Amino acid sequence: PHALVWFRNDLRLADNPALQAAVRAGFVPVPVYIHAPDEEGDWSPGAASDAWRQRSLQALAADLQARGSRLQVFRGDSLATLQRLATQVGAEAVFWNRRYEPAIEARDAGIKRTLRQQGLRAESHNGALLFEPWQVQGKTGDPYRVFTPFWRTAQAQWRLPAASEPPERLPAPPALEGAVDIAALALAPTLRWDAGFWDEWTPGEAGAVAAASAFAMQALDGYGDGRDRPDRRGTSRLSPHLHFGEIAPWRIVRLLEGVAVGEDREAYVRELGWREFAHHVLHHFPHTPEANFNPRFDGFAWAQPTPQQLQAWQHGRTGIPIVDAGMRELWHTGWMHNRVRMIVASLLCKNLRVHWREGARWFWDTLVDADLASNSLGWQWVAGTGADAAPYYRVFNPVLQAQRFDPAGDYIARWVPELASLAPAQRHAPWTGTIPRGYVPPMVDLAKSRQAALDALARNGR
Ligand code: FAD
Repeated sequence: PHALVWFRNDLRLADNPALQAAVRAGFVPVPVYIHAPDEEGDWSPGAASDAWRQRSLQALAADLQARGSRLQVFRGDSLATLQRLATQVGAEAVFWNRRYEPAIEARDAGIKRTLRQQGLRAESHNGALLFEPWQVQGKTGDPYRVFTPFWRTAQAQWRLPAASEPPERLPAPPALEGAVDIAALALAPTLRWDAGFWDEWTPGEAGAVAAASAFAMQALDGYGDGRDRPDRRGTSRLSPHLHFGEIAPWRIVRLLEGVAVGEDREAYVRELGWREFAHHVLHHFPHTPEANFNPRFDGFAWAQPTPQQLQAWQHGRTGIPIVDAGMRELWHTGWMHNRVRMIVASLLCKNLRVHWREGARWFWDTLVDADLASNSLGWQWVAGTGADAAPYYRVFNPVLQAQRFDPAGDYIARWVPELASLAPAQRHAPWTGTIPRGYVPPMVDLAKSRQAALDALARNGR
């Protein structure tokens, strides 16, 4: 008997519960992928995400082929496609791993119901998280709004699945009608703005495992302090691999268990905990990609930016070096260091008082790790409107932040070469001397705009 294995954001063969379940139940797995961006509500994937997905799908297709199977790719309505394919091969079952974006959860629930009504076995599994978003509950059953108690409860329920190796061989599935080439999905950009990405990244399962192993060997030691330093390679850069499900979080945890650095490992697993918390918040507060978590800010007087202001921020021409470095790193590599994400977001939402949604949208389109749960949480956290928000009156000072976390200005010099000729101490605030040719003066007065933000927040009624 045949079963469709519907790949989504679980583009791997190891630790893949849906694939495992199909094989264990004695089915010939028929791996399929359906491209249906219209079904993602207001959050169809952005351009950087698409560019990654194309490569990740190619890697999965090659991995399946090497095992005797094959990935068949389709375009169009997911339910109708699954129904058609199931009929064509006489499949008895459809297996998939869950996604947690509100629009997708609703769609998938409908698909499961319909398939079951038609007599098919339709089964979803957890392939993405250490804890299901609804699993961690306080005594009252209310969702958590603050990370620390969430994580404490989660850890008390800690039950890590064993890592499982990919199947060595898979039976060949029948050829399906209507399959298209991955290239025909046109996910890769026609203007090659992503050229710089692929020096940094290797999408796909092998790339994910290599990145995790390299991190465990080289950067985990010292992660607790090093994770805040954009001038060093101190973090794992696993976020896009995790988003696309190229590696299971529990495999990462298991891998790190083999490396004897207790505190750093704990600090790292705690960051994975933030990813879990982001999914918990999105599940319980599904409006938070669009609307304030904290309704107190619903009447807040955001400023209407001019297109020029927005562009200066987007293109890394604000005149504030650490911000420009971050925005250019994002543009060139599809990723930005977490500390710098906070700094650039604070400049946009606090100093420029632009609604956090503007920033979230730009990140959505440009990040290779764009993830509805983590992005919404991150933006609302910095804006001060969110769950477990930074105190609303916290306005990052980008100069002090740069002095502290990029002390020699190496990160700035790497991404803003106009400033590389300056002495390290000058790179954080070039306007204290002569601004080099080709660079721009700051687009806002940091002290005045900070005060204006605080005044606006005070008017909003503490
Ligand atoms: P590491 O330090 O190696 O952390 C390991 C893993 O833990 C990450 O891969 C990630 O999956 C998870 N993680 C770490 N920090 C966070 C966090 N604060 N929230 C949720 N998960 C976390 N992360 C995304 O994956 N997608 C996004 O779209 C995204 N948008 C963000 C927007 C803003 C404004 C901010 C402040 C943060 C955002 N983050 C997002 C969180 C964080 O910046 C990235 O996960 C992190 O920089 C990824 O780099 P890394 O893999 O080297 O992290």
